[in-house]
Amino acid sequence: MGETETSSETPEAAADCSAKGCRAAATWALRWNNPRLHTPDRRKVWLACDEHRTSLGDHLAARGFLRETVPFDPADPDPDLAV
Ligand SMILES: [Zn+2]
Repeated sequence: MGETETSSETPEAAADCSAKGCRAAATWALRWNNPRLHTPDRRKVWLACDEHRTSLGDHLAARGFLRETVPFDPADPDPDLAV
């Protein structure tokens, strides 16, 4: 899949789409919260490619978990991802 082991500037960053089986680079961060599990200020983050942004977002929105969808920049990862 065009992976180059010579590139040292790409650590094991979890910057792939969160959709099952999708290895596309994420371009969106879906920030969500499950009020039954998380405190109100807690944010979980799913990453999504353009193709899965809608399906993943709908999945979260249908449960009332989705808080915001923001553009994801691999050079400036969401700090909540490190949790
Ligand atoms: Zn995807």
